[in-house]
Amino acid sequence: MLDPKCKICRRAGVKLFLKGNRCLSDKCAIEQRNFPPGKKASGYRSRKPSNYAQQLSEKQKVKFGYGLNEAQMINVYKKALSSREATGQKIMKLLESRIDNILYRIGVFDSRFSARQYMTHRGVKVNQKNVKSPSYLIKPGDVINIPDETSVKKLAKASWYQVKDKQISVVRIPIKEEIGSAINEQLIVEYYSR
Ligand code: SF4
Repeated sequence: MLDPKCKICRRAGVKLFLKGNRCLSDKCAIEQRNFPPGKKASGYRSRKPSNYAQQLSEKQKVKFGYGLNEAQMINVYKKALSSREATGQKIMKLLESRIDNILYRIGVFDSRFSARQYMTHRGVKVNQKNVKSPSYLIKPGDVINIPDETSVKKLAKASWYQVKDKQISVVRIPIKEEIGSAINEQLIVEYYSR
């Protein structure tokens, strides 16, 4: 039976990396069957989606990809709208700043879901204080303790953070180009400003 998380990817038509290492293997449902669940591969022809369908699809990709519910997405949008930065860019910045996302990007956990589970049960130290909320927003200059069971050797390397003595110092929140994001954030702004 198709995993519910993989169904979300197949509906969105893109890999949302919700299943850890499986997403990087040839067992990934998108690699095997990149057409919506319930359709047949042979008969499936994608029609050009309406503007609304494109806006909705982009919003859903982000919502499911980052593991948020609709109320949380609306909160992110409202927060971005009230900032001085461009709303779309700020939405992505707020999402990328979440500690569950940061820990996933760095490779401490193989999915945002695993990061969230660990955080709610055990918590992770940020600036020497235990943080249990996966939605905690990391700022440049914050120092995150790497959980004891995580091997530093498996962590990814990038210029937006530094690793030393089992601690991660966040230099800046990664920008779109650094994470290879193909999200069109303007469509999300259009979706919520209808
Ligand atoms: Fe499933 Fe991951 Fe592939 Fe999505 S990217 S279909 S969650 S294995």
